[in-house]
Amino acid sequence: MSEYDYDLFVIGAGSGGVRASRIAAGYGARVAVCEEDRVGGTCVIRGCVPKKLMVYAAHFHEDFEDAAGFGWEVGQAEFDWNRLIAAKDHEIDRLNGVYKNILASAGVELIEQRGELVDAHTVQLGDRQVTADKILIAVGGWPTKPPVPGAELAITSTEAFHLDSLPPRVVVYGGGYIAVEFAGIFNGLGSEVTQVYRGPQVLRGFDRDVREVLGQELIKKGIHLCLDTNIIGIEECPEGTRVHLSGNDSIDCDLVMFATGRAPKIDGLGLENAGVETDAGGAIVVDEFSRTSVDNIYAVGDVTNRINLTPVALMEGHAFARTVFGNDPVPVDHASVPSAVFSQPPVATVGLTEHDARDQLGEIDVYRSTFRPLKHTLSGRDEQTMMKLIVERQTQRVVGCHIVGLDAAEMLQGVAIAIKMGATKSQFDAVIGIHPTAAEELVTMRNKVEC
Ligand code: NDP
Repeated sequence: MSEYDYDLFVIGAGSGGVRASRIAAGYGARVAVCEEDRVGGTCVIRGCVPKKLMVYAAHFHEDFEDAAGFGWEVGQAEFDWNRLIAAKDHEIDRLNGVYKNILASAGVELIEQRGELVDAHTVQLGDRQVTADKILIAVGGWPTKPPVPGAELAITSTEAFHLDSLPPRVVVYGGGYIAVEFAGIFNGLGSEVTQVYRGPQVLRGFDRDVREVLGQELIKKGIHLCLDTNIIGIEECPEGTRVHLSGNDSIDCDLVMFATGRAPKIDGLGLENAGVETDAGGAIVVDEFSRTSVDNIYAVGDVTNRINLTPVALMEGHAFARTVFGNDPVPVDHASVPSAVFSQPPVATVGLTEHDARDQLGEIDVYRSTFRPLKHTLSGRDEQTMMKLIVERQTQRVVGCHIVGLDAAEMLQGVAIAIKMGATKSQFDAVIGIHPTAAEELVTMRNKVEC
C-alpha cells in the first residue's frame, strides 16, 4: 500500500486536468482532482464553448439579411440578449454536469475546493491536507490587463458572458484571438464596435494575407478598426465611459473590453513551497513529458504556456497519464497544431506562415486563391474567401494552409491531417474536388503566386 493518500492529485478540473485524471484512473491509479471554480475550466465555462454559441447567435444577423437574396422575406428580426444568455447558461450547466459525470464514472474523486502546494507531495485543501505520489498542475490561465489608468472600468472575456444587457457601444482592446472574436460577436448582435489595437494589423503572428483579408472584412462588417493605437486612459463620463486613445482621440462607449492576453494562473498555488520553477512570464517550465523541475510534479495546459488551446491541453494531459501511469512514455507533440479564430468571417490555419516558411525552409512555392463564395452570389454580400497553401520547393511538401472565410475551421481539420502526414502538393492535386464547395479550391490551386 502506498504511503500517500492518492497516486495522483490533480489541481484544476479543466480540459487538461479532467483528461489526465480520467486516463490515469483508467490505468488503475487512485486519483483525486480539486477545483475552486466550476468543473470544465476555461473552455467549457468561460471560453471556447460559450464563445462559439455567441458567435452563432451573432451570425444570424447576416443570415437574415442573406436570406432575402434567396427569396425569403424575413421581416423585422429582433434579438433578446437575456434569452441568449439564459440558453447559453443552460447548455454550460449541462456540460458542467457531463464533466462531473466523466470524473465520477472514471472513479476520480472530485474535491470542490482550492488546492495549494505545501511541499512536493502535499496539497492544502481548506483546513486539511492530502498527500499524493504524483501531482499534476492544470490550473490554466487568466486574462490580464495592461496598466492603463482606469483599466478597472474595463471588463475581460470572463465577464463578457454575463453582462446584464447588450451594450449599445463597445470598445474592444487588442488584436488577438479573443479581441477579433468578441468584436465580431458584439458587432453581429447589434452593438457599435470599435476595436483598438496597438499593431499595424490584427492577428500578429498569423500569415500576412490572412491578417490583411480579415482586417478588410472586419471593416466591411462595420467594425471601426483603430490600428497602431493604444488606449491610454479610461474614465467615467456622463454618457457612459470615455476611452482616451494615443493620438489625442477619445471614444465614448458603454462597455470597454480588454482582450490583451492571458497569463498562467499561479498566484497562491504554493509553487515556491515545492520548488517548482516558472519562467519570466510565470509559466511552469516543463520537459517534453510535462515534468516540472520537481521530479514528481507535472503540469499541462495553459499554465505551461506552450500552445494555449484546449485540444493541446487534452493531448498533454493524455500523454502525461500514459507516460506516468500507463508505462508508455509519450512525449507531447506540438508540431502542426491546427487552430481557428472564430472571427466573422472565421480564420483557420495549420503549419507555417509564408514568412516563417521562407525563414526556416528557404525556397517555397505559394498558392493563393481569393474568391466570392457561391452563397454570396445570391446573397449579394461582399465577403471574400481566401485560401493559401505554402509548399517547400525542394520536397514539394505542403507545410502550411491558411483560410479566411465561411466554414474555414470545418475545412481545415481534414487538411491538417494531410499536412501532419507530410502530403505533397501533387498528392493534394491528385484528390478530386467536391463540387460545388469552397473546399475544392484546396485541391485545384495550380498557379503559383509571383513572389
Ligand atoms: P492573444 O495573445 O491572442 O492576443 C492578445 C492581444 O493583446 C494582442 O493583440 C496583443 O498585441 C495585445 N496586447 C498584449 N499586451 C498588450 C498591452 N500591454 N497593451 C496593448 N495591447 C496588448 O491573447 P488573447 O487574450 O486573445 O487569447 C489568449 C490565448 O487564448 C490565445 O493566444 C489562444 O492561444 C487562446 N485562444 C484561442 C481561441 C481559439 O482557439 N479560437 C480563442 C480564444 C483564445 P500584440 O499582438 O501586439 O502583442
